[in-house]
Amino acid sequence: MTTAYVGRFAPSPTGPLHAGSLVAALASWLDARAHAGRWLVRIEDVDTPRCVAGADRIILAQLAACGLTPDEPVMIQSRRTDCYQRALDTLIAAGQAYPCACSRKDIEDALAVRGIRRPRHAELVYPGTCRDGLHGRRARAWRFLTQNRQEKELQAVDGYNKSAIEKVVNPLVTWQDRWLGAQQQDVAAQVGDFVLKRADGLWAYQLAVVVDDAAQGITHVVRGADLADNTPRQMLLQRALRLPTPAYLHTPLVRGANGDKLSKQNGARAIDTTSSARSLQALVAAAAVLGLPPQTGSVAEALAAWVSAWRHLYNSDSS
Ligand code: GLU
Repeated sequence: MTTAYVGRFAPSPTGPLHAGSLVAALASWLDARAHAGRWLVRIEDVDTPRCVAGADRIILAQLAACGLTPDEPVMIQSRRTDCYQRALDTLIAAGQAYPCACSRKDIEDALAVRGIRRPRHAELVYPGTCRDGLHGRRARAWRFLTQNRQEKELQAVDGYNKSAIEKVVNPLVTWQDRWLGAQQQDVAAQVGDFVLKRADGLWAYQLAVVVDDAAQGITHVVRGADLADNTPRQMLLQRALRLPTPAYLHTPLVRGANGDKLSKQNGARAIDTTSSARSLQALVAAAAVLGLPPQTGSVAEALAAWVSAWRHLYNSDSS
């Protein structure tokens, strides 16, 4: 509907594309083409210990073999640390980010005192220990404040700038996902004050993705449903940084034989793009996950047919 559409595919270079990541790549490309928009690729390599040397080049070659070529030069997150630091500085100045001295053990102990033991996706809901200052402990990470502070807590914060404080944080985030429908999450209760910069000095995915989606002018995010849970955190960050919120569509996941989400971690194999027939085969499998019919002919012909089908099936909301 709109020519202002900008979409993206944002793989982490932790290995080659597999059947699951191709679904997200294809869906984001189809949605961009169906909206006559632009489609960008961003290499999300901030989590350096998980990155595999050369995986970015392999991913781009696999995408090209599948007819999915970005409309602009690829953005590389590891070159953008200054931008992430500026965003963190903005949040600190607004009283929405604070240093945290807690180790994982500290967090577990603080939760245990409150009788809470249940990990959530192996992550623990941060109990807010350092919200009112470090009390002489050494800062390890930076966290985002997901709820309003009491005035007395505010006064205890180092360098607290009362006039700059964003007074109202509403941690209950709702959004209309274009695939999943109405969604909501209370970020304060279900996630807690989340990390922006990690204890090992690396930038957290949540901050980098929000800064970069805005920098690239992304209007529509199309990605796997495993990431839907992150969307409310990203929306809170967008509000705090006064950045626009894109429309979201989270695609169905491809499951492995054991029923778990197919991922590089559970040994998903690279898609085979060694011939155009094999690339088409991989695309047909990805299209099926998206409810699109099989196609024959060339990769370009198949993609064109799927763009029409996508427009018909999924563009009705035009969001
Ligand atoms: N880099 C993330 C991943 O590969 C995707 C981030 C996103 O699409 O927002 O899982």
